[in-house]
Amino acid sequence: MNRALTVREADRQHLWHPWSPLDSNHERLVLVEGDGSHVRDDHGRTFLDLRAGTLNATVGYSHPTVVQALSHQAGRLMTWDLAEVTTLPAAELAHRIASLLPPPLGRTLFCNSGSEATEAALKIARMWHHIEGCDERMVVLSYADGYHGATAAAIATTAAPFRREGTGPLPNGYAHLATPRCAGCASGTHHEHCRVPGAVEWEEQILAIGPENIAAVLVEPVLSVGGVIVPPPGRLHDLRALCDRYGMLLIVDEVATGYGRTGRLFGFEHDLNAQAAPDIVTTSKGLTGGYAPLAAVTVRDDIYSAFARDPLLGGLRHGHTTGGHATACAAALAVLDVIERDSLVAAAADRGSQLLALLQMLTECVGVRDVRGRGLMIGVEMASIELAEQVSRAAQDAGVLVRGFGPVLTVAPPLTISADEARMGAEVLTDAVRAATTVAV
Ligand code: PLP
Repeated sequence: MNRALTVREADRQHLWHPWSPLDSNHERLVLVEGDGSHVRDDHGRTFLDLRAGTLNATVGYSHPTVVQALSHQAGRLMTWDLAEVTTLPAAELAHRIASLLPPPLGRTLFCNSGSEATEAALKIARMWHHIEGCDERMVVLSYADGYHGATAAAIATTAAPFRREGTGPLPNGYAHLATPRCAGCASGTHHEHCRVPGAVEWEEQILAIGPENIAAVLVEPVLSVGGVIVPPPGRLHDLRALCDRYGMLLIVDEVATGYGRTGRLFGFEHDLNAQAAPDIVTTSKGLTGGYAPLAAVTVRDDIYSAFARDPLLGGLRHGHTTGGHATACAAALAVLDVIERDSLVAAAADRGSQLLALLQMLTECVGVRDVRGRGLMIGVEMASIELAEQVSRAAQDAGVLVRGFGPVLTVAPPLTISADEARMGAEVLTDAVRAATTVAV
């Protein structure tokens, strides 16, 4: 029995794959290594990764700077719980994140995943209102099509039945804002002619709930798992204004968009500025470029300071053993160095425009509903989930990996992708779409 067969059997018998049907007839890829924008499987086949893992491999695979930083830290002090001590990489990373965000976003709590960051951000928002004497402010508003993670509170923030059904009683205190997308065309190109939900209906909803009951608004700048939905310009600004008017905190989930993905360092920068910034920002995927699990919840300095008045601890009653794991923080510092040194934010904007222009030609195909995106976060919306799966499989057979979220194929490669790789990826995807739509539609 060769080693590959052993891996497949072990996988079939014992590994539970998340977000994946158990009876999948398709043989799973066994990935064994990666380099730059490519990964290789156990048969030696090479694939261009147009999905950056799951939007996290921002600086590509086997990056020597990151690998070196990671192994150096692991060989020195791999981790320590940050409750009582600090470590060099954790302190330095918190400082670095503060330098990247507009003040007063200056204080970071570390956790391990995007979902944990959501849980912590919501807890911080509600506890802050509690400390401020506003106990009734407990409701969290979020876009109906948003995605903020798989844990209980995070699931409660989305209205998608696929994520909620059968998961048992979800926590109370959540309401959903109409997603700022056009149900008809779904595309950013038609906004002048359509009614995309915004401040008017959101304010009505806030008044119906009673602003005195609302703790926070939690949104992604570009909706990721919800299908690469790019809200029209100004929507975050409108939410900022509503939060100011009604005393709610604005939490921006930059788990997918943070650290360059949209062509700006943070996705909110397309809409907000230092004078009108979020109150809390969560980041994860791009923070370590996928080299280690890590997430960050960065809050305004005064929100942090208020926790000194928490009656039971005089601090935050929350944390995880490996939140701020030293090795993960060292990897993050190296990733941020690479992003800065290689101007990867500008590269994401350039490559993103190139890829979007190439992929937008697909809108001529009958089975393609829409192609939209911002920076290197592009969605090709197919007419059905089946069609999207067919295209994804055909692209994989031709050596290109994309990520399907329902009917939307997500094209979100490493920010390090070259112009040639982007062109080749777009060609393969175009052929796959053309083949599938000619046959299937
Ligand atoms: N928030 C956003 C915007 C995401 O895209 C995701 C994951 O895709 C999460 C939160 C949850 O992150 P994780 O899968 O690390 O728990």
